[in-house]
Amino acid sequence: MDETTLKIIEGLFTTITNANFDNESLKTMIKNTEYDMNKIWQGNEDVRSLKSLILFGLKGMAAYAHHAWVLGYKDETVNNFFYEGLSALEKDLSTDELIALVLKTGEVNFKCMEMLDRANTETYGNPEPTKVTKNIEAKPFIVITGHDLHDLKMLLEQTKDKGINIYTHGEMLPALAYPELKKYEHLKGNFGTAWQNQQKEFDNIPAPILFTTNCIMPVKDSYKDRVFTTAAVHYPQCTYIKADNNGYKDFTPVINKALELGGYKEVQKMPGINGGESLTVGFGHHTVLSVADKVVEAVKSGALKHIFLVGGCDGAKPGRNYYTEFVKQTPKNTLVLTCACGKYRFNDLELGDINGIPRLLDLGQCNDAYSGIKIAVELAKVFNCGVNDLPLSIVLSWYEQKAVCVLLTLLYLGIQNIKLGPSLPAFVSPNVLNVLVDKFKIAPTTTPEADLKEILTK
Ligand code: SF4
Repeated sequence: MDETTLKIIEGLFTTITNANFDNESLKTMIKNTEYDMNKIWQGNEDVRSLKSLILFGLKGMAAYAHHAWVLGYKDETVNNFFYEGLSALEKDLSTDELIALVLKTGEVNFKCMEMLDRANTETYGNPEPTKVTKNIEAKPFIVITGHDLHDLKMLLEQTKDKGINIYTHGEMLPALAYPELKKYEHLKGNFGTAWQNQQKEFDNIPAPILFTTNCIMPVKDSYKDRVFTTAAVHYPQCTYIKADNNGYKDFTPVINKALELGGYKEVQKMPGINGGESLTVGFGHHTVLSVADKVVEAVKSGALKHIFLVGGCDGAKPGRNYYTEFVKQTPKNTLVLTCACGKYRFNDLELGDINGIPRLLDLGQCNDAYSGIKIAVELAKVFNCGVNDLPLSIVLSWYEQKAVCVLLTLLYLGIQNIKLGPSLPAFVSPNVLNVLVDKFKIAPTTTPEADLKEILTK
């Protein structure tokens, strides 16, 4: 059972956006499976749309379940739902039945994110506020990207006496806030920005790059020999690091490449997209809730008027500077919580503080949306109201399947008035969109000015 469940999880994870570009490895994975994908797409466009939401939600959840699994955490409800959800996709179900299943996907994903939060914090400690440099020292180094903290831990152990520095990239950035990871002195800082800039940022760098999960972009010849992949990520002609039967990975080829390339000859400044040279991370629910009394006091005194959760995936599509502009224009008496790689649009901005609470609070990776939910639920308890009655608004950027499963969790929790952009998912049919608008009051983002005005005058 465990073996089959893991195969299902790996199968879903490997077909997530920007993870596996290698036909051979995909052929090997599907060799002994019999599943007619056409069955999923039978039916009218509303049925296809709802089934897409379930399938994409399952794929996102599989990524989270996999990260927890490698740390030894599993959950029966989560695992059983992979079977229930996938078998439902080939059935002839009514739209009402499918809508119920869409919400159940969100419900189970909530459990899955909670499990991953427990797996990460029990293994590596509670994230703590940490200032992260964006400068790269003159020394051999390795860039590690993706979401898998377990891979990072193994790499840190194997490089600790090798004269090599490690820099996070993309969604690996929050790792720098976990006590059991930041204790490694050669875990130095963060390289570059979000995934869609990697072709520019990785071009000709004197260091190898290790991809632990998505998002990998088509690898250019100028750095193909320096790209290493592992877990669900595969790319033709790039070296794949396989786990042994005990889950151990030998990163010697990556280490040797780092030593061979030697790193930069002098310190390289790699500012963020707004010119900032450092970032602050580590505001998970433990940290934020430890100052909950200050937040409550600030709300009561009027010093804090509104909280925004601006998060989700970044992407290459024009219009994503919406999120930079939105955050820049948030009034000084508001807080901005953020998670996932969409934050690179604004995480190097200096927004100041409110009574000692930084205005920009980085919750972590996309799965750390769980922290945002936990903070909102706890604040609602203090104020004795519902989450929808809090002075809190959610502005999401979506790109791939993990954003879908997080969105489904928010819908399951009954959270309304979410703004979604920069465009709505193309697989959502007009009728399904109407349900989302009527029932959950989801709205597409418009302009930062108009959306802020609308939110703050409600
Ligand atoms: S948050 Fe989404 S877009 Fe960003 S790296 Fe992770 S999976 Fe890719």
